Amino acid sequence: MSLSAASSSVTPDLTHRSIAYFSMEIALSPDLPTYSGGLGMLAGDTLRSAADTAAPMVAVSLVHRRGYFRQHLDDVGQQTESDVPWSPETALPSANQIIALTLQGRQLLVRAWRFDVIGVTGHVIPVFLLDTDVEGNDPWDRHLTDHLYGGDTYYRLCQEAVLGLGGIALLRALGSRPEVYHMNEGHAALLAIALLEEQLAGRPLRDANEADIQAVSRQCVFTTHTPVPAGHDQFGLDHMYQVLGNDRAAAIDRAGCLHNGLMNMTYIALRFSRFVNGVAMQHGKVSQQMFPNYKVHAITNGVHAATWLSPSFQELFDAEIPTWRTDNQYLRSVYGIDPARIAACHLKGKQHLFATVAKRTGHFFNPNALTLGFARRVATYKRASLLLHDPARLVAIAEKIGGLQILFAGKAHPADNAGKGLIRDVYASAVRLNSSALKIHYLENYDWELGALLTQGVDVWVNTPRRPYEASGTSGMKAALNGVPSLSILDGWWIEGCAENTTGWAIEDGETEDAEANSLYEKLEEHIAPMYANPIAWSEMQRHCVGMNGTFFNTHRMLAQYLGNAYYPPRSIDLPVVADHHPHRRSTDAIVPEPALA
Ligand SMILES: *Cc1c(COP(=O)(O)O)cnc(C)c1O
Repeated sequence: MSLSAASSSVTPDLTHRSIAYFSMEIALSPDLPTYSGGLGMLAGDTLRSAADTAAPMVAVSLVHRRGYFRQHLDDVGQQTESDVPWSPETALPSANQIIALTLQGRQLLVRAWRFDVIGVTGHVIPVFLLDTDVEGNDPWDRHLTDHLYGGDTYYRLCQEAVLGLGGIALLRALGSRPEVYHMNEGHAALLAIALLEEQLAGRPLRDANEADIQAVSRQCVFTTHTPVPAGHDQFGLDHMYQVLGNDRAAAIDRAGCLHNGLMNMTYIALRFSRFVNGVAMQHGKVSQQMFPNYKVHAITNGVHAATWLSPSFQELFDAEIPTWRTDNQYLRSVYGIDPARIAACHLKGKQHLFATVAKRTGHFFNPNALTLGFARRVATYKRASLLLHDPARLVAIAEKIGGLQILFAGKAHPADNAGKGLIRDVYASAVRLNSSALKIHYLENYDWELGALLTQGVDVWVNTPRRPYEASGTSGMKAALNGVPSLSILDGWWIEGCAENTTGWAIEDGETEDAEANSLYEKLEEHIAPMYANPIAWSEMQRHCVGMNGTFFNTHRMLAQYLGNAYYPPRSIDLPVVADHHPHRRSTDAIVPEPALA
């Protein structure tokens, strides 16, 4: 997608947009650093599916002028970061509106840039990127929309106030009055306070009663995205009063949205939403346990198929299943395609990945060798090191099966020193273990482009989170679309996606890391390598990945569920029966707090 082609100077008609989608990060284009990871990818994929299926949506986020960081890794895997500045002035049309908010006891001017997400039939989803770098603002305030997830908690609260309060003010200035407001994660929850202000129509906010709160919650939908406690933003009351002012702060307190004596974005979102959901069946259930006073539903995530399918698969499907772009469910017709052709498409993706790796790093990977991929944000619960838990055993397996290759990638948050240590550990293992049979490499700067290359090119996608912290995971869905099976812990989406020996393999639940690593190695040695050695069986599995998982774990299906169950439910729906059982799954997991960031 090129920026110039994606934007025109004509503002789409906003008066008929009935759904407003608010997200702190949105991955809009590979050239724009407006996202950090899975949450932003999901937001972008949601809007791309909304555009393809002509949903009446408009979206709001922040401009993030200095982007999310670029990762640099030195010889020993030590991570350093640099900004990715960009200039919306030269890339995007202006929304031609400046709105004024009162924050921190002073006036803040906010403008916006417009990015048009254009669907396959030409339908446009306008995305407004809020920007406080406006002349007349306090110099510190001009940098509020610079750094995604940067700064301290005070800076973060100011950003979330700009997103929620500024977003509603901007939509109104543009003549937009949606019926439904979707908070994609708690970051956007202050939009409810803006709606409450409208509801009170000039009466002081602290006079809001239960009926006023209900009137707001009838308009709001909230998706929570992680059971990891650190993922739920909370702020001290001093900051709440300082940033939002007495009236709004007192209203939040009176509405019962404080939690453990702190302003908590998740509890604001819960209190002011009529529909709340987790992002996979199990995550709905885990979230229900975390928030027993609220009803929590589940809508399983997906990925935008046309964004993540490799060029060779797109060509194949355009020829054989031409309707797939407007309706991904037709991909089920993949069962009418010879598996050898699926395998050939995948091989092209593998060759392209290895050519790119060779160009970037000088390392040559063998396209005939079984290749595992592991790429995700570096967080301790994601356990990048499980694959390397028993190095001697891994080497022995590599030698026995005639060669094994592993590609790693992932960024640690700049403040996460433990995470940075994990990257150095993988580097050290690679140096120690690399041999003619086993080849391990950690790739720099995991981003949209590298994520696509990896999920299209490796043979098996590996995911080893500590249960039950993986709310959904979406990279394995990208892999499945491209005919790549997963080897994964039964957590998040994989509980729903794993058909053993058909779409991939489950790492059996264990009480210890030893036990889970043991299961991982056993699956690799006894099941995966033998099937890989049988190209016909392997190609049939690749086809099942598309036919069973690609047809379901996409954002066309996901958005249809949001439309039918969340935005416009035909009737009030009860908590769905959460089918989180799986023949290979034994435990029900409790949430224990993760260690805080160093
Ligand atoms: C898809 C994607 C993610 C999310 O993947 P998970 O499976 O949730 O880890 C994160 N970062 C990038 C760059 C991606 O493409």
